[in-house]
Amino acid sequence: MVDRWKGWGCMVDRMNSNFAYRKTSAIVNTSAEPQPVWFSSEDISDADEPLLFPLFKESFIQWINEAAGLSSFEAGQFVLFNKQAEEVASAGLYNAGRKRDAALEKAVRTVLCSGRPSICETEDMSFAAFPLQRRNDGAVFCVFTYVSPIGSQTDITQLQMSSLHFRSCFYHKFEQLYVKDLLLQQQRAEQEASRRDFLFQAAKRLYDQIDVSSVLSELLRSLEIVYPSSEVYLYLSQDHLNGDPRVKPLVFKNAEHDLVAKAFLNGKSVTEQDRDGTLRLAVPMTGKQAAYGVLRMSIGPGEWDEADLSAFLLLAETSGSAFENAKLYEQSNLLINELRLINELTKRLNRSLKLKEIFQFATSELLTIFDADYCCVLQLNNENNQFVVMSSNFPELANDKFSHDYGFCGMVYRTREPLIISDYWQTRVVTSKIMDNTGSRSLIAAPIMVEGEVAGIIMVTHKTPNFFSYENYKLLQVMSTHIGIAVSNASLHAEVRRMVITDNLTGLHARHYLNEQIQSRQRKDRFGSLILVDVDLFKRVNDTYGHQIGDRILIHVSNIIRESIRQGDIAARWGGEELAIYLPGIRAEQAYRVAERIRLHVEQETEPVVTVSCGVSEWTFEDEKVSVESLFYRADMALYEAKNNGRNCIFVGQS
Ligand code: GH3
Ligand code: MG
Ligand code: MG
Repeated sequence: MVDRWKGWGCMVDRMNSNFAYRKTSAIVNTSAEPQPVWFSSEDISDADEPLLFPLFKESFIQWINEAAGLSSFEAGQFVLFNKQAEEVASAGLYNAGRKRDAALEKAVRTVLCSGRPSICETEDMSFAAFPLQRRNDGAVFCVFTYVSPIGSQTDITQLQMSSLHFRSCFYHKFEQLYVKDLLLQQQRAEQEASRRDFLFQAAKRLYDQIDVSSVLSELLRSLEIVYPSSEVYLYLSQDHLNGDPRVKPLVFKNAEHDLVAKAFLNGKSVTEQDRDGTLRLAVPMTGKQAAYGVLRMSIGPGEWDEADLSAFLLLAETSGSAFENAKLYEQSNLLINELRLINELTKRLNRSLKLKEIFQFATSELLTIFDADYCCVLQLNNENNQFVVMSSNFPELANDKFSHDYGFCGMVYRTREPLIISDYWQTRVVTSKIMDNTGSRSLIAAPIMVEGEVAGIIMVTHKTPNFFSYENYKLLQVMSTHIGIAVSNASLHAEVRRMVITDNLTGLHARHYLNEQIQSRQRKDRFGSLILVDVDLFKRVNDTYGHQIGDRILIHVSNIIRESIRQGDIAARWGGEELAIYLPGIRAEQAYRVAERIRLHVEQETEPVVTVSCGVSEWTFEDEKVSVESLFYRADMALYEAKNNGRNCIFVGQS
C-alpha cells in the first residue's frame, strides 16, 4: 500500500504537468523566487493570494507523502481548489473527466460560499468537500475535496482529518515561507547597511585625496567594488587624463541622443534600457562651481536595484565635490608656483640694465622653467625691420637675422599674440628655421612688447610633440610681459645715459664723459693725445651775426671734427666754444696732423668763415705723473700760445 501511495506522489507531479498544471501553469511555479512584497501578518491575507499558489502545490505534495498509508482512499481522487474555485493540485488515479469537473466545481463553490463542508452524489460519483479556513478570521482560503466512484467506501471522519492534516501541512509551508521571507528581509537590510557604510567610507576616502588623479582612481575603485559586474566610464569635460582607459574626454557629438552629453547639459541623471534589458545610466559629476564630467555605467539585466540610484547619485556628487577641491588645490599650487617663478625672474631681470645680459638671462631661465630643449630671443631692429637673434642656446642661430614677416616670428609680429604649436611636423603652417634646424616639434612663442609695440620675440621649443601645456603657454605670456618691462627699462636707461653723456647743441660728448674716458684709457694704454679746439674771435661772430648763426657755426665746426676723427676717438664740448678731442694710442705729431686737418676744413668750409686755434698735448706711460689735469693744462697752454701767435694755427704743448 505504501508503495501505492508513493506512486500517487509521483502521479501528482505527472498529473500536474498534464492535468492540474494545465489550469494553473502561470502561477504554480515553485522555482520562482519570492518577490519583494513583504508579509505583514502572521496569517494569510487576500493580498498574498498569488504568492500562495506554489505553497498549495508544495503542501499538497507534502501531505501526500505524510498520508501515505491511507489505503481506504485509493479508489478516489483528492483535488485542491483555490478561492476562485480553480483547481490547483490533484492526486489519485481516478478521474471521471468533464462531468466530474463541472459537478465538482459546483460543489466547491457551495463550500466557498457557505464555509461548511458538503457531501453530495451524482449518478456515478460522490464528492466530499471541506473548506480550509484562515486562523484569524475564519475566511475560506481553499477547498479540499475527495471524489470517488459511487459504491466505493468513504470514511467521512477520516476525510475531515485528512483535510485538517493538509491544512497543517499548508500552514507549515506558509510559516516556512514567512520565516524565509523575514530572513531575506534581514539579509537585505544588512546588505543595505554595509553598502551605506562602504559609501560613507568611499566618500571619506575621496575627500582625503588632494590631487585630481587620486580622486579619479579612488572613485573608479569604489565603483568597481560596489558594482563589480558593471562597466563604468568617466567622461571629463576638462583636460585631465590620468592614464586609466576608463577616463575619457567628454565629446559632444549629438546631445539629443547621447546619454552622456544629455546628462552633462541638463545636470541630471539619465537612464536608458536596452532591448536586452541592460540598463545604461549617466550621472553628472558636479561640484559647487561647475559640472566636471559624467559617470556612465552599463549594468546587466536584473543586476540593478532602483534603490541603488540614490547611493550612486551620492557617490557622483561626492566625487564631484572632491574633484573640485582637488582641482582648486592643484590650481592654487600652480598659481603659487607661477608667482614664485615670475617673482624670481623679475628680481633677476631687474638686476641688470644691459639688454644683452637680459636676453641671455631670459634664455637660460626660460629653458629651466619650461624644461625646454631650445630657447631663442630675438629683437626687432626698427631701422631695417629685421629680427636679430640676441640670445639662443642653439649656437647656429647666433646673430641670425630674419625678415619681420618670416616664420613664426612673422605670425607673432602680425598678430601681437602668443602662439602654441603642438606638432610642427603635422601643422607646418609656416617654415621655421629654428624648428627645422633643431628638430623641434612643440613650440610656444610670445611677443616682447615695449610701449605697445612688438620689440622682440621669445621662442621656446621641444623635440617632443604636444610637450607644452596651455598653462605653459599662459605662463610664457606673463613672463614675456616682465621681460618686456626689463627690456624697456634697459632701453630707457641706455637713452638716459646717452643723454647724460651727450652735449645737446653739438651732439658731441659731454665734458665729464671725456674726462672719464681719458682716465680709463690712461690706465690701460701706453700713450694718447689731446687736441683743444677754440673758435677764434667767436665773440665777434656772435656780435656780428647773432647767437643763432654763432650756434650754427659751432655745430658745423663740431661736424667737421666728427668727420675728421677715427671711430675710437672721443670728441667733446669742453665748454662754450672750446671743443676737445682725445685720440687714444696716438702720439703728438699724429695728433697735430689731425688738428691741422680740422683747422683747414673749418677755414675752408664755414660760412661766414671762422678759423680755429688748436693746442695739442700728449702723455706716455713713461711720464712721471700721468693725469687728465696735466694733459689738459699742457694743451691749454699750447692753445694760449696759438692765440698769441695770431690764431688759426696749432701749437704742441711740451711735457
Ligand atoms: P678768442 O679768439 O680769443 O678765443 O676770442 P673769443 O671771442 O672767441 O673769446 P672769448 O672767450 O672772449 O669769447 C667767447 C665767446 O663765445 C663768448 C660767447 O659769447 C661765445 N659763446 C660761448 N658759447 C657759445 C654758444 O654756445 N653759442 C654761441 N653762439 N656763442 C657762444
Ligand atoms: Mg675763442
Ligand atoms: Mg674761448
